[in-house]
Amino acid sequence: MNSFSRRNLLVGAGLAAVAAQATPDRLKVVVTGGHPGDPEYGCGGTVARYTDAGHAATLLYLNHGQKGCPSKSPEDCGELRTGEAKKACDILNAVPKFSVFMDGEPTVDGKTYDEFRKLLDDEKPNVVFTHWPIDNHRDHRAMSMLVYDAWLKMNRSFALYYYEVSDGEDTQMFVPTDYVDITGMAARKKAACFAHASQAPEKFYSLQQQVTRFRGLERGCGEAEAFIRLTKDTGHLLP
Ligand SMILES: [Zn+2]
Repeated sequence: MNSFSRRNLLVGAGLAAVAAQATPDRLKVVVTGGHPGDPEYGCGGTVARYTDAGHAATLLYLNHGQKGCPSKSPEDCGELRTGEAKKACDILNAVPKFSVFMDGEPTVDGKTYDEFRKLLDDEKPNVVFTHWPIDNHRDHRAMSMLVYDAWLKMNRSFALYYYEVSDGEDTQMFVPTDYVDITGMAARKKAACFAHASQAPEKFYSLQQQVTRFRGLERGCGEAEAFIRLTKDTGHLLP
């Protein structure tokens, strides 16, 4: 991130004096999601803004989405969706990473908390995004719990934001605290979502765009992504 955009970020957040001491010029952003596609649908515009500003982004998926293709074996489906995730990450200039769970069969216990924390710790993140925990999908809830536990165990060393995806069907009762104007990034976000071609993007992208347009109305712009910021985090680090 160059000094100009960094200054804008910090001044815009009103925390220049605090954040200038601890925030590196180039942020490491990690967006976690229960499946390939979740980070792109919930945060694709925000990721594009980060990477365009010179920050590094990783999309960390809980699994390979192995059960998301009715006519394919889990192995073939996982391979197909891994390729789709790589395409989506290329569009957003992000790096894809996967943890080891089977789609729909997450485990949240002492062992997996520790394994996941090590995975996240290796990324050395400044900012992490994850699912809002009240969600109808067990993989989304599991990811949210794993991230929150890692945040605690890593001494709250990164800013933590929750995002919304497939509101009503997945995310429930989401009341945002923060917004990012993604109007100028909508085309790239759409391309990243449509990279998940096996997952009916023509249906789900238009549903999610209803949400970003509504958040845009709240924010006062064309389209916005909305977040809940953990108030005990390290400061506002949205682009
Ligand atoms: Zn999902």
